[in-house]
Amino acid sequence: MGIVVQKFGGSSVADADRIRNVAKAVIKEKNAGNKVVVVVSAMGKTTDYLTKLAHEVTAHPDSRELDMLLTTGEQVSIAMLAMALQNEGEKAISMNAAQIGIITENVHTKARIVDVKTDKLLEKLNEGYIVVAAGFQGVTPEGEITTLGRGGSDTSAVAIAAALNADYCDIYTDVDGVYTADPRIINSAARLDKILYSEMLELARVGAKVLHPRSVETAKQFDVKLRVRSSFNLDDLGTMVVGEELMEIYRPVSGVAADLNQVRISVLDVPEAPGTAAALFGKLAAHNVSVDMIIQTHAIKAETNNIDFTVSKSDFDEAMKLVDEFAKEFKAGEVLIDDKISKVSIVGAGMIDRPGIAAKMFQALAQSGINIEMISTSEIKISCVISKDYSEKAVKALHTIFDLDQTEGNAKVYGL
Ligand code: ADP
Ligand code: ASP
Ligand code: MG
Repeated sequence: MGIVVQKFGGSSVADADRIRNVAKAVIKEKNAGNKVVVVVSAMGKTTDYLTKLAHEVTAHPDSRELDMLLTTGEQVSIAMLAMALQNEGEKAISMNAAQIGIITENVHTKARIVDVKTDKLLEKLNEGYIVVAAGFQGVTPEGEITTLGRGGSDTSAVAIAAALNADYCDIYTDVDGVYTADPRIINSAARLDKILYSEMLELARVGAKVLHPRSVETAKQFDVKLRVRSSFNLDDLGTMVVGEELMEIYRPVSGVAADLNQVRISVLDVPEAPGTAAALFGKLAAHNVSVDMIIQTHAIKAETNNIDFTVSKSDFDEAMKLVDEFAKEFKAGEVLIDDKISKVSIVGAGMIDRPGIAAKMFQALAQSGINIEMISTSEIKISCVISKDYSEKAVKALHTIFDLDQTEGNAKVYGL
């Protein structure tokens, strides 16, 4: 008897009808002869609602209390699904992260999982229960409640699958797989039957929110068989995330994504001296603020540099506090902010050793009249920061120039 981990996102459990539908998908897996752990997110847009609620009482909610509030969303959905399963005559039990033992580091709002205990999960599975596990949340060794960052339920599911050595981890969502671009924006996007872990990881990191980046990282590390499937069409196997041994053809570009969630911070006239960049980025790192793109250029003023970088909107308040401290300490000039940016990226394992891909990207943007503000590259990814107003136009142009377009209207997306 194998073990299967299924994960259903917010739109898949948005109301009682959909929860009953999920119960059917879970029972189908169980009847196929598997032990099933099902991980769920909060119902519909509950997490957005709770976040907004917190901001109604304070502009800067305390991160511990925010975690305490947000984790209630998943607690509702696990109980609802367990009841729906019981209503179908199944043995089912809901468990939150503390009850399972999903242990994280002691960081709020974006904690990493460090361990998943399997004793209680296995005990319940062996007693014949379907275990309904809360996604997105964790607990520190000291008993503090944490969350894994927005979209983190995917990571909960993969971490549980890795710990249990599950046969599969199926991420059921409101699209029927991973596409060459967000099918809600590009309706000529093509569905991929297979995608490499490395490509999926880059795509997730640059804004394709269909999978949480750390879920892909964890799947890659522990060889978890990961699939992205539709919760509205259970017979369709969706997209399989695979290792290099299962992929024969490397397209130069497998996907295009846009990230509208970044803010550019420019620190002007930073006096030139060894250690200034180390001081600034060391300070940000010490406070768990991840920095994405970095550019340092000579300023017009003699012996000073301008340092530009991007951070995600969720880290912005913290980043600004630290940057202001730095600017004072190092007698830098003004600090400018631009939150009207989009980072557009192309990703593909096939771009390794294929010259000209970056030039082609810049050419496509130029032909669309789009100015590039920042550029960064990795082995299998090229990203450009552009004005937010041109984000969709840029994704479309890149999708076309790299021959990713399919017949219009083929994408299967399901609304809330
Ligand atoms: P869930 O609530 O199930 O976790 P998400 O909203 O987090 O679902 O992720 C699914 C969404 O990801 C889709 O509705 C789609 O709009 C978006 N998405 C972005 N890029 C892609 C892509 N390349 N392929 C598929 N979906 C994508
Ligand atoms: N409910 C959380 C969120 O909306 C976690 C998730 O959906 O994966 O971000
Ligand atoms: Mg998600």
